[in-house]
Amino acid sequence: MRQKVIFGNWKMNGTNAELVTFLKKVDKAAKKSDVVAGLGLPFTLLSKGIEKAKNVKVAAQNVHFAEKGAFTGEVSISMLQEVGVQYVIIGHSERREMFAETDETVNKKATALLAAGITPIICCGETLETKEAKKTVTFVNAQIKKAYKGISAEDALKTIIAYEPIWAIGTGKTATSEDAEKVCEAIRKNLTKIYDEKTAQQITIQYGGSVNPSNIAELMSQPNIDGALVGGASLKADDFIALINYKK
Ligand code: 13P
Repeated sequence: MRQKVIFGNWKMNGTNAELVTFLKKVDKAAKKSDVVAGLGLPFTLLSKGIEKAKNVKVAAQNVHFAEKGAFTGEVSISMLQEVGVQYVIIGHSERREMFAETDETVNKKATALLAAGITPIICCGETLETKEAKKTVTFVNAQIKKAYKGISAEDALKTIIAYEPIWAIGTGKTATSEDAEKVCEAIRKNLTKIYDEKTAQQITIQYGGSVNPSNIAELMSQPNIDGALVGGASLKADDFIALINYKK
């Protein structure tokens, strides 16, 4: 049985004071929830998040794959390890579209994170244009194939995939649970091809894109959707608690 994994992605939002208030409420709720709850935080909030969160996992939203060097503005894996980060979101469509993230850098980041024992949350997802051209599965499968290039089955088991259709992010247009399921199922089939059935069956696949407390249960009821990566609705403690308690 795959574990249910629900992560918030705060993107470029939040202060340390807001995080402390948020975690006071959310950490208690996370202890009672049977999902793995986590938060993708900006770099400036990571230390505080790790200090205050006992039951909420903390993820960074980006990392550089190089060990160190002249990369102004970047943060390395060992820097994240120094503050105790165990998860990193990579290849988010906002980073692909605005900050030149490519399938190749996603692969380098995933490889380096796995070597360091950190869980990469590998994002994929198509534009509206690709969806309308009915090329979603081909496109997403190519992203996944490139992301996992050279990664062993044993390491693949330590990854999480987040399928986030770009047209559904921050737009209020959630993919229908059937559509989201179809793509997540196709991703799992692709993982079977790349690795094997047993490996593919164990990898957690999240859906992301306008997930909120009223649509999460329906999405989570799909057989190949094992979790969610949530932007806007993860910013308020009550909403986040409702998300991780979607079963109750
Ligand atoms: P929204 O939930 O705001 O649509 O954002 C989704 C997302 O990009 C999570 O990484």
